[in-house]
Amino acid sequence: MIQLIIATGNKGKVRDFQCIFESVGLDIEMSPVSDWVEMEEVDETGTTFEANARIKADATKSALSKHPDVWVVADDSGIAVDALDGKPGVHSARFAGPTATDEDNRNQLLKALEGLPETERGASFVCNLCLIDPQGSVFHFEATCSGVISDVPKGDNGFGYDPLFIQEGTSLTWGERSTEKKTQDNHRARAVRLLIQHFQNL
Ligand code: IMP
Repeated sequence: MIQLIIATGNKGKVRDFQCIFESVGLDIEMSPVSDWVEMEEVDETGTTFEANARIKADATKSALSKHPDVWVVADDSGIAVDALDGKPGVHSARFAGPTATDEDNRNQLLKALEGLPETERGASFVCNLCLIDPQGSVFHFEATCSGVISDVPKGDNGFGYDPLFIQEGTSLTWGERSTEKKTQDNHRARAVRLLIQHFQNL
């Protein structure tokens, strides 16, 4: 049985991961790193999602040095808005400043896009996963999910920019959709499916 440790303290992400893995039936037990060790927040100094995912995975692997047999997966994700040349991107969690709440970040984004018609409100969520196996080999899986930014927040489900994001081909924001629906085919689900394929091919 593989012990897979998720390197995040974000409960929304942990729920997303567990939801996707449960439906696959692999012999993998997943748990958040907080169930294993206490970790300080890691500085995400990378300029790409891949670099930041690697920083988080490396820090978590080191913190788990007493458990050399576990596998570690870290995710870095965010939203890249077309009209803002890909911003907030890797700075999504801190778009409105270092202590910003999700609501502050959403308001900052709405302000930045004020007055733009729907055709100019395109955006993509990006997720990069970094997996480190017990031998220390590193693998990356990246996926995106396109849509538009709504002009008003709708729905209280999920986290982060969920109340603003309307996935391509749908009409509700992710804030208005259930976690099960949202996680069937979002950026994280797509990247996790690549990760699952990796496990299936072992
Ligand atoms: P990270 O923890 O550095 O990966 O920060 C990702 C940030 O991007 C989060 O704090 C959210 O603001 C945003 N984000 C990433 N994935 C999602 C999602 O699925 N829904 C809404 N916001 C997300």
